[in-house]
Amino acid sequence: MYFSELAETFEKMEKTSSRLELTDYLVHVLKRSTIQTIDKIIYLIQGKLGPDYQSKELGVAERVVIKSLALASGYSVKDIQIKYNKSGDLGDVAYDLLKNKFQTTLSYEKLTIEKVYETLIKISKVSGAGSIDLKLKYINSLLNNSTNLESKFILKLILGNLRLGIADFTILDAISISFTGEKKNRKILERAYNVSSDLGNIARLLFGGSLNEVESIPISLFIPVRPMLAERASDANDALKKMSGKICYAEYKIDGERIQIHKSDKKIELFTRSLENVTNNFSDIVNEFKKINTKDLIAEGEIVSIDIQTGKFLPFQSLMHRRRKYKIDEAIKDYPVILNLFDLLFYDNEDKTNLPFFKRRRILEEIISFENEKIKLITQTKVTEIEELDKFMVKAIEEGCEGLMLKNSESPYRAGAREWAWIKLKKEYSNKLLDTLDLAIVGAAHGKGRRVGNYGAFLLAAYEPEEDTFFTICKVGTGFTDEILEEISKRLKQHVIKNKHPRVNSGELKIDVWFEPKLVIEIFSPEITLSPLYTTSINRIKKGYGLALRFPKFTGKIRDDKNAEDSTTITEIENIYKKQLKSI
Ligand code: AMP
Repeated sequence: MYFSELAETFEKMEKTSSRLELTDYLVHVLKRSTIQTIDKIIYLIQGKLGPDYQSKELGVAERVVIKSLALASGYSVKDIQIKYNKSGDLGDVAYDLLKNKFQTTLSYEKLTIEKVYETLIKISKVSGAGSIDLKLKYINSLLNNSTNLESKFILKLILGNLRLGIADFTILDAISISFTGEKKNRKILERAYNVSSDLGNIARLLFGGSLNEVESIPISLFIPVRPMLAERASDANDALKKMSGKICYAEYKIDGERIQIHKSDKKIELFTRSLENVTNNFSDIVNEFKKINTKDLIAEGEIVSIDIQTGKFLPFQSLMHRRRKYKIDEAIKDYPVILNLFDLLFYDNEDKTNLPFFKRRRILEEIISFENEKIKLITQTKVTEIEELDKFMVKAIEEGCEGLMLKNSESPYRAGAREWAWIKLKKEYSNKLLDTLDLAIVGAAHGKGRRVGNYGAFLLAAYEPEEDTFFTICKVGTGFTDEILEEISKRLKQHVIKNKHPRVNSGELKIDVWFEPKLVIEIFSPEITLSPLYTTSINRIKKGYGLALRFPKFTGKIRDDKNAEDSTTITEIENIYKKQLKSI
């Protein structure tokens, strides 16, 4: 299949602001694909070169792309730089500069999707001396054989700024419609995605086989499972009520980073909640885990920084030192961490997710049956009474935890699902204040006064997974130091889009700048109110009104561990609102 078809689809997708149209374009291109191209098309649509857990970074600097474009177009590097400064997107610059190039190219070979994909993979593998020249050569081999429209999207793919507004759920809808004729089979595909985290592979299996094959995709070592998530309760009473008399365990809720550890007799790999492979960032944990004499397994836990003097847990921010690319050895020495295991998904070649929680925990206790400084089991206790829960909360907070996790003892592990089998209870609840929310930045207003030249306030949105849509909930301008405002603005620059994102529902609200929902920040607010301006829960509680945060304040935490689709959901917000009404 020719790349030009994909480029034309990308062009249409970029222009639409309707999610239905986006799905239609996707279905059209997926139906035209072949068994050789289907997975590649899916990855390219996601702007990636494989599933998240092994996606390769292209690592091409802007100046290399500018040089390639100079060679392909005949314009000088300086001219291109000037045009780039104006438009902010090298793909768009290529589109303009290469408009008339075809008359001059003699040895033109029409690009296929396979060719583009293979070349991008080659670029991602280049390293060491001479790598810039080699990357230049590969990029030019693509540009020389492409139209200006193809060049535009090749450069966007290379620079990682293809902003099509497509998320996993929309792709799942499109795969379902394309190959089963119906959207309702998305549920089956979703399960497969939750255990295998690879949309390209699912599409390929469905294309060449049957829905049954996809339905029986197993959990496998070194393929991260999408994590089970928790609902939230507003206080101990509410949490226990939601468990409706079932036996449950309370566990420390630690403010660190969730890690899924995969171990065979030969290797160990660690993945984050957003499926990033972080084995190298935590080699101390890997070495310690090697000492445990155990069979193959997949387990989950929270990695957290600790204060060596007191042994107390330190907040999430201290972990960020481990995210460095360079001098990671120093960070490992200076910022010690421990791993607190809380679940087991796979053991001795068997999927354990269907076992009840207490049995999974029991096996985990047998595996980690000795004292280890760095690998521990999370502290837990069986609870039936509110007083027990309150007492355990006090203990948890004293030791530096964020709060508690309440878990239904009978519940299976439900990959990718947010259900009442796990309930989070944060310490803020005890003061009767509203909990923090994690919200996606979808727009911004230019700053005034001291903030001229910077953003002054951000438009934030919550997420609705069923519709795969972001709904606005507030604008926030307080809680930002100049330094963090600078950092957020810099990071948002890569996500600026010309029009409102197709998966954002903002009603009539206008704002100076729109972003692709990527960056998630933590917000504190004392109250949720009805508002005619914002679209969260619009018309669901009162006609013409949505829900909004009153006096929202940024807590200082950028949630790098969350994708935009992991933002607080509309349902969670509705639940908090309803609870708040009851307590008045
Ligand atoms: P939140 O990020 O606020 O939605 O809370 C869910 C996160 O809490 C999980 O993804 C884990 O990273 C973290 N967590 C901390 N302690 C536990 C625990 N005992 N069980 C499950 N998750 C935990």
